[in-house]
Amino acid sequence: MNFYSTRNKNLKYPFGQAVRQGLAPDGGLFMPEDIPLLPADFYRQLPELSLPQIAEIILHPYTNDDIPDDALHEICRTAFTFPAPLVRLSDNLYALELYHGPTMAFKDFGARLLARTLNYLNRHRQQRNVVLVATSGDTGSAVASGFYGLEHIEVVILYPYGKISDLQERQMTTLGGNIHALAIDGNFDDCQRLVKTAFNDRQLAATYGLTSANSINIARLLPQMIYYFYAWGQLAGHHTQIVFSVPSGNYGNLTAGILAQKMGLPVQHFLAAANANNTVPAYLQSGHFEPRPTIATLSNAMDVGNPSNFERLQSLFDNNLDSFRQHIAGYSFDDEQTLAAITRLYREYNYLADPHGAVGYLALEAWLKENGGTGIFLETAHPTKFADTVEKATGRLPELPAAWQGLEKKDKHFIRCSSDYKDFLDCLTTALS
Ligand SMILES: *Cc1c(COP(=O)(O)O)cnc(C)c1O
Repeated sequence: MNFYSTRNKNLKYPFGQAVRQGLAPDGGLFMPEDIPLLPADFYRQLPELSLPQIAEIILHPYTNDDIPDDALHEICRTAFTFPAPLVRLSDNLYALELYHGPTMAFKDFGARLLARTLNYLNRHRQQRNVVLVATSGDTGSAVASGFYGLEHIEVVILYPYGKISDLQERQMTTLGGNIHALAIDGNFDDCQRLVKTAFNDRQLAATYGLTSANSINIARLLPQMIYYFYAWGQLAGHHTQIVFSVPSGNYGNLTAGILAQKMGLPVQHFLAAANANNTVPAYLQSGHFEPRPTIATLSNAMDVGNPSNFERLQSLFDNNLDSFRQHIAGYSFDDEQTLAAITRLYREYNYLADPHGAVGYLALEAWLKENGGTGIFLETAHPTKFADTVEKATGRLPELPAAWQGLEKKDKHFIRCSSDYKDFLDCLTTALS
């Protein structure tokens, strides 16, 4: 299958090339040319299928020109080695826990599939590939963990200095080896702008074989469909009308949900659950897309004022506001409401949520109150990643998982860099020398 640029439907590349390039040459994002409907039979089997089995089936039509069946099987088997439990809070309220991977956030799904895909695509190459990624926190740790130790790939991570948690910073700066970190004096949008500029810098992109690994890479996006299918399969037979509430920042996760729906998954509605960075909910209300400066919030992985994947959503909805509104309802909540939601979830359901999941819960609560039905909110990060906030809201300090103990004793290695493009190029050269 070919993948087109959101800025020009005639600009098309096969899967492998789209994955390597990350971004289309015209600055657009890649989208699949077809979205095949899955056979009815698949939905009957779904309740019995594991995450790797679902992954193999749904990814196959997109990847099969470049990845043979046995290789795809191996990639999925080694990528999705952790569960995604659907936790029942009440008769019509569920939390889908996507944080049981190695870095305890849902970005492990995309990062691990992308890492193994690139590794496969590079297996005969002499030239090394450099993965360049901007992160507001969780992408970087997921990518660092997903790629660590791969032979033909170097990873350079840009993060906003001082604006991510200590744990997130440690996860990407203590590995060493093929993982390099640049601490940028600026915010996430600055990091993302530097990455985009680098990709548009043809000579640089060619010299380093630049590849993106953040949510703009199509191989990060596609595997995020898996858990929507999985969750639906867990509830199928009990509930027919299911709403998914998606805590959103750059809108990759929600885009994947819409793709799953286009493959036939019977989802009643999606909720775009935003924090104070409400660019998309504001668009749904006014019909005007107006990117804004980023606002720092408790759910910092969602602090994005100009979400990249909006272009993909526009493409999926043919730039039609009505069709956007038929599928997605927008909500935005401030930090005070987020804290109160964490408290409420703990008191009423004995459930410990992180600030991102709490924003998802708030949107779902508002939707269910008005519309009824059954809802699933995505719990995108482990509460321990935001331990201070969770403790403040509940009085209970979430435990640090065993895998992370001792991280505070390891040395951080990063290069501090201004948000100026020329400075960034110097830092990049230093990191890779
Ligand atoms: C990245 C992230 C989000 C936002 O996901 P998008 O695909 O960027 O909308 C939500 N929660 C957590 C914990 C994240 O790391």
